[in-house]
Amino acid sequence: MKYVIALDQGTTSSRAVLIDESGNLIDIKQKEFSQIFPNRGWVEHDPLEILSSQIKVFEDLLSSNSIDPKSIISLGITNQRETTVLWDKDTGKPLYNAIVWQDKRTANICEKIKKDGLEEYIKENTGLVVDSYFSATKIKWIIDNVDGVRDKINKNKVLAGTIDSWLIYNLTSFKCHFTDFTNASRTMVFNIKSLKWDSKILSYLDIPTSILPNVLPSSSNFGTFNYKGCNIPINGVAGDQQSALFGQACFEDGMVKNTYGTGCFLLMNTGKKMNLSQNGLLTTIACSTTKSINYALEGSVFIAGAAIQWLRDSLKIIKSASETEEIANSILELEDIYVVPAFAGLGAPYWDMYSRGAIFGLTRDTGKDHIVKATLESLAYQTKDIIEVMEKDANLKLQSLKVDGGACNNNYLMQFQSDILNSDVLRPEIIESTAMGAGYLAGIYSSLWDKNKIISNQKINKIFKPNIDSKKRKRLYLGWNKAVNRTLNWIEK
Ligand code: ADP
Repeated sequence: MKYVIALDQGTTSSRAVLIDESGNLIDIKQKEFSQIFPNRGWVEHDPLEILSSQIKVFEDLLSSNSIDPKSIISLGITNQRETTVLWDKDTGKPLYNAIVWQDKRTANICEKIKKDGLEEYIKENTGLVVDSYFSATKIKWIIDNVDGVRDKINKNKVLAGTIDSWLIYNLTSFKCHFTDFTNASRTMVFNIKSLKWDSKILSYLDIPTSILPNVLPSSSNFGTFNYKGCNIPINGVAGDQQSALFGQACFEDGMVKNTYGTGCFLLMNTGKKMNLSQNGLLTTIACSTTKSINYALEGSVFIAGAAIQWLRDSLKIIKSASETEEIANSILELEDIYVVPAFAGLGAPYWDMYSRGAIFGLTRDTGKDHIVKATLESLAYQTKDIIEVMEKDANLKLQSLKVDGGACNNNYLMQFQSDILNSDVLRPEIIESTAMGAGYLAGIYSSLWDKNKIISNQKINKIFKPNIDSKKRKRLYLGWNKAVNRTLNWIEK
């Protein structure tokens, strides 16, 4: 038997997934690593701990399944996006911790970029809004603030990259400095039209192109991992959300997946069309197996599963996330209570950092279960908000929604999502779409399978069909819109 292993390097844990030659998921290993918070709003990871945890799960997977490394014919990598590392080209030592996507320390650099009038150029050429979330200002911060980095750059001794590049460089014994189009498209220094590093933005930020990796299609030869004498080619690389889109076989224009995790991430494949959103969505590059790339529109909900964690950890009205399903089902009618979890402001399509969370429609008989149910429904309403603008931006109508991520296990939520969208919601048997995407990309390059095989491998666990009338759907959604509007512009600017 031949195997592919996908390394899934996430924000809080590193995972390794074993996939057999037929594309079946055989086993998963997972290891958490440290989150470092040196200052308010700062979030870092130790790149060496990321690397060692990733190798540990890889080895655990081999040993607990008695796999001979010779039978691993390809390796895929998917990763937390935007998180940035700079390291010494010769020693491979990180020059600073990885600055994580959540880190806000570079907000002032972003303000300056806007003041200097580059916002429009950046949107048109990178598909992104100017934000500290993306890699560009993180690279700049390390160069400008860490002793000796600028000097080393002048001596041509520094390399930079997102987590995929960091892993590739180390796994290939410092031989290969690569990234893929999907990861590059999240840096805010990659031109998604010319498919090259953008010299105008780089020179404005004073970042030399020479420290950046070569960019390849997601299914490519990224080098070889020499493990105990076996040469394992690295043939699939993609940022986590694009990897999930690929893992769900969303290969055609208009196909959408939504990942229900801590936040929600919606991506729509828009094919060869590079749509620039009028409504605050991002334009990004989807996985490609050839040089001819596809684009995607992306919208995210900041607080999704995190609202369920809030019920559990702050309000303490549930013990586990999964019990929300039974609670929601136990309440027969609920049309007037809305929880808007705008704990940190609202993202697309509202983009109001001054909005705050609120509960609407409380009456004397409202109990905690009503609040649980309304909180669960807020995930579906926020998803609908994004799909509405995605359809407008892409000028396409959603046919069905493919789902994954922890909270898609909730049957009540999925049925409500289908009801409120008036579309089918398709839940796959394997909801590990992120890791599967990277594994599929690797296997395609190694000629283990092709896209048709991936499509035929998509086993549906359940299709949720809309089951409410349009009058009710309209009334429910109007109530949500009214609730959201009342949270806008809440705190003082
Ligand atoms: P992440 O990758 O962002 O850590 P996961 O995909 O593991 O997230 O999903 C975990 C999130 O989903 C948590 O925020 C949790 O509260 C929520 N969640 C998990 N299971 C359920 C469930 N059955 N119903 C509702 N929410 C759930």
